[in-house]
Amino acid sequence: MGGRIGVVGGGQLAWMLAAAARKLGIELHVQTPELSDPAARLATSVVRAPLADLEATRRLAQKATAISFENEWLDLAALAALEQEGVVFIPRLESLADLVCKRRQRQLLERLHLPSPRWFPLEQLLTPPPAAELEDSPLAGAEEPAGEAAEPELLLPPQLPQGFDFPLMAKAVRGGYDGRGTRVIRSQAELEALIEAVDPSLWLLEEFVAFEQELALVACRDHLGAVQCYPLVETHQHDQVCDWVLAPAAAAQAVEARARNVAASLLAALDYVGVLSIEFFYGRTGLLINELAPRTHNSGHYTIEACRTSQFAQQVRIVSGQPLGDNSMTLSGALMVNLLGFETSTAAYARQRQALETLPAAHLHWYGKRLARPGRKLGHITLELKASGAAERAREAALRLAEVRAIWPLPPARTP
Ligand code: ADP
Repeated sequence: MGGRIGVVGGGQLAWMLAAAARKLGIELHVQTPELSDPAARLATSVVRAPLADLEATRRLAQKATAISFENEWLDLAALAALEQEGVVFIPRLESLADLVCKRRQRQLLERLHLPSPRWFPLEQLLTPPPAAELEDSPLAGAEEPAGEAAEPELLLPPQLPQGFDFPLMAKAVRGGYDGRGTRVIRSQAELEALIEAVDPSLWLLEEFVAFEQELALVACRDHLGAVQCYPLVETHQHDQVCDWVLAPAAAAQAVEARARNVAASLLAALDYVGVLSIEFFYGRTGLLINELAPRTHNSGHYTIEACRTSQFAQQVRIVSGQPLGDNSMTLSGALMVNLLGFETSTAAYARQRQALETLPAAHLHWYGKRLARPGRKLGHITLELKASGAAERAREAALRLAEVRAIWPLPPARTP
């Protein structure tokens, strides 16, 4: 087929993109800090540099017709200079502007009237209430302290905005992944401790959603505006890290249709080109959007074995300027189980890997990371499911999950 693309990032997503590119006969060059990073093993070449090294991205661009990213925590202002020099980014930087920060994502969803948990910026709690509201407070009439009044300070115990109550979910607006950067805030004391511990301008608080299910959808749009969605899947988290994914989800047709509409609205509104993933909460109040990821996603790993064109092949096709491939499923279902680190030595996992390899109708993907720690994603395994109905599929998935768990335990919980 031919073609040359670049990826900023060298983790497991870039590794699976590189595997898909090889199959399609497309060169895939990566920018990543270490030659031992997963994608360095499969990439056509490696620009060895930190992800934020702009000069390195410029060198990467010389090898490729278009560049894509492995994660969304980007410095768009810096990258804009490269775009002006003619570097092609897919998705375009303009499409990414509302996605590179959780606060901007929430504002985007509000603008588009798409449902998401109610939220407010943490720094809102530091803004002193209007004078009228201070009348009854012990500080009423107190002199303003003279001198430098630069840092916003907590004058009164922070008051939650109307309609909010504990527990709340606190989130860092950038850089979080796998639950790093999210904290449950259960009380006034925990709220005050959070304000002391973090930069409030970089955090938001949102209602704690009593969801029944977490769902996810991987969608994609090509240069011509053609849109495709993979099936809606159910995701399950352990300690805020994805633990397993069941495809397709046991969701009503109306719910799946709603999720697809949300995806189509977002892709069109952002004039987005590439793969985009959406995480949902589902419960009594219907679908709420938790998070958007402008890239391939853990919830779509099962597509490697279960779909004619995987999410990775689809992204490679789009970035190299080809039309979308057929994304229909070739299996009646699949269960993807993440292999989360449960101890720190990578050597200790050899026995478990061998045992996993003997499971029937199962496909093991080992990322080859040099360092392991509890909760880190070290690999995943996808199990083919045969059942056709939702209830039967759930039973089959539970049995297959038990097979994996008998070999590979979950890490101990981080949070009490
Ligand atoms: P990350 O960016 O680290 O993946 P997420 O925002 O996806 O963080 O949150 C990780 C997990 O934490 C979610 O999958 C969900 O299980 C839980 N979670 C996140 N936000 C909320 C919320 N508002 N209410 C309840 N649970 C939440």
